[in-house]
Amino acid sequence: MTEVLMPNTLAEALSMISKDGHDVLILGSGSDVIPRIREREIEPKKVLDLSGLGSELNYIRTEGKVIRIGALVTVRQIIDNELFKGRLDAFLQAGRMFGGPQIRNMATVGGNLGAASSSEDLIPIFIALDARVKMASIDGDRLVPVSKLVVAKRQIDRRPNEIIREIYFEMPDESSWTAFFKAGRRNSLIIDLINMAMYLKLNIDGTKIEDIRIALNRVRGKTPERAYKTEEYLRGKRIENETIARAQEVLDSEVQLSSDFRASAEYRKSLDKVILARLINNCRDRIVEGRRTGN
Ligand SMILES: Cc1cc2nc3c(=O)[nH]c(=O)nc-3n(C[C@H](O)[C@H](O)[C@H](O)COP(=O)(O)OP(=O)(O)OC[C@H]3O[C@@H](n4cnc5c(N)ncnc54)[C@H](O)[C@@H]3O)c2cc1C
Repeated sequence: MTEVLMPNTLAEALSMISKDGHDVLILGSGSDVIPRIREREIEPKKVLDLSGLGSELNYIRTEGKVIRIGALVTVRQIIDNELFKGRLDAFLQAGRMFGGPQIRNMATVGGNLGAASSSEDLIPIFIALDARVKMASIDGDRLVPVSKLVVAKRQIDRRPNEIIREIYFEMPDESSWTAFFKAGRRNSLIIDLINMAMYLKLNIDGTKIEDIRIALNRVRGKTPERAYKTEEYLRGKRIENETIARAQEVLDSEVQLSSDFRASAEYRKSLDKVILARLINNCRDRIVEGRRTGN
């Protein structure tokens, strides 16, 4: 019989997992975990339900350039928040393709980071934004760069006595844009074959790529990773067909994707190359349009 712990404050929750935390499964909204419990894929001794911590873990705040998102913020709240309508477009693009309406209403940011299966959509966006995850424990907070968070499929750098408290990143400036795309086999409740997120910054006169970060999921079949070599090739380059074609070749040689029952590695690679071109052009067009319209 599973014991359900229902704390009312974060301090109470942290004290409940301060000892024997490895016996406790943390529950955000349960959209990932409940089906797995039902299938008996996991059989936790104890479940720590975070739903009573809304007043402490459900917030979207800006502090200067920094945006802080509490672990209990849902995908729906992100889609509805004005802050994400613009340079943080990647979140809206992911949000529109995220599960169905019920899942968008439930799914939390902390749960997305915690699930770390090979198909979580928010993780590559946070990696492209160079975000940091704040882990809370009774010993204090610990910061983990999101690029180092996922250590293996369904395994994150979280100690048994820690709870994901928030994730934060800097708002991209007006020369920058973010974009996201995922490819699946249907148009709703998409289980992605591949997804990719991008942060792109143009130089002052808008002719060259000043900075770029590209993150993809399902690399080596399991984890999200940066495409460092492709980024390095693209930095300082003009966005022209030749540049994009060469960047696609670099991506092709850099990224190791695996085959499974959903798609072959070759098919995933060809999708990645198309998505790369699409996201570069999308970011460039939106930055140029923003400069023209003053938005
Ligand atoms: C039909 C369906 C469609 C889906 N579509 C998508 C999709 O399009 N894109 C996508 O990315 N995902 C999708 N998912 C997966 C899931 O909904 C998301 O990963 C969601 O963000 C998980 O959030 P949650 O709050 O429900 O997490 P939960 O199920 O509560 O938890 C998930 C994991 O995170 C851990 N966890 C939760 N909160 C914390 C915390 N604060 N601190 C530490 N650990 C924590 C849990 O212990 C667990 O291991 C889908 C799921 C279903 C069932």
